[in-house]
Amino acid sequence: MSDCIFCRIVDGQIPAKKVFEDEDIIAFNDINPARPVHVLVIPKKHITSLATVTPEDAPILGKVLLKANEIATAQGSPDGFRVIINTGRVGQQEVQHLHAHIVGGPDPVGPMLKRI
Ligand code: AMP
Ligand code: ZN
Repeated sequence: MSDCIFCRIVDGQIPAKKVFEDEDIIAFNDINPARPVHVLVIPKKHITSLATVTPEDAPILGKVLLKANEIATAQGSPDGFRVIINTGRVGQQEVQHLHAHIVGGPDPVGPMLKRI
């Protein structure tokens, strides 16, 4: 979809700091990080949100979650991390292309900010 910012990142029309890519998914740093590790993992195929997935999307959703753990660990989140998938209007999803936020890093002083 040409008017979708994340599809344009997939197509290379908008630059992004990629941390992983394969034939199905891509992961890149969030442009406005909330924590030292803040990566977005997205399917390359345009899927609007978790509210529009179908059973045939199950393998790709599994890949997103598996990669979330790998990326959080590789980037330095030794004591855990958050995975957030904002969905729809009430879920305050701003970009209408399914994405999982991976938010982590070293242990924060106090509870982790729940901004996302
Ligand atoms: P959400 O509110 O879950 O839809 O989050 C959208 C996220 O996309 C926000 O955290 C933005 O900072 C991030 N974002 C928007 N545009 C870009 C971009 N061009 N590159 C990287 N991250 C982006
Ligand atoms: Zn898209």
